[in-house]
Amino acid sequence: MTGTHSDALISRRVRRLETLLEERGLVAGAALDEALDAFLSGASPANGARVTARAWVDADFRARLLADGTAAVAELGLSSGGVQPQRLHVVENTERTHNVIVCTLCSCYPIRLLGPSPSWYKSEAYRSRVVREPRAVLEEFGLRLPSDTEITVWDSTAETRYMVLPRRPAGTESLTEPELAALVTRNALIGTAAV
Ligand code: FE
Repeated sequence: MTGTHSDALISRRVRRLETLLEERGLVAGAALDEALDAFLSGASPANGARVTARAWVDADFRARLLADGTAAVAELGLSSGGVQPQRLHVVENTERTHNVIVCTLCSCYPIRLLGPSPSWYKSEAYRSRVVREPRAVLEEFGLRLPSDTEITVWDSTAETRYMVLPRRPAGTESLTEPELAALVTRNALIGTAAV
């Protein structure tokens, strides 16, 4: 299933669900539109970058983020949005371990924190290959990891979304939190790049 096909399918399902909810008087159309707009307009990799920078400067926040990502990002006013609650699991890169996220079934992704997903994330090639040969796939992204770095691939589901907490680069001790956030890219939050 391609991303475009999957998106169209989801759109139709959402539309059908909206109609059903409205027919049964459960949700007013305008209220639902408002909630969806608010969710989509707030979806950006700048959110994930802000979460990352906070974790880099605040060890207590970092600990809470790794223990319960959903609750920790809510502290910054970021919820997963949507009708169905999603659990956010944040996985931390270290000197010895590297994390990368995928959805092998379709294209699940923490949209609120990372913005709309790139087309390669939804591609059959990425979804199948990153699980089998993560090191080779990461090298194609230009990310060459030391041979003793352990790579973990996290497979998203409808209920659980993952975000990578990248390593803070050396020599950034004097940077402010917004300056740190500006260093963080979407691919670093997916795990296909480093900061
Ligand atoms: Fe999916």
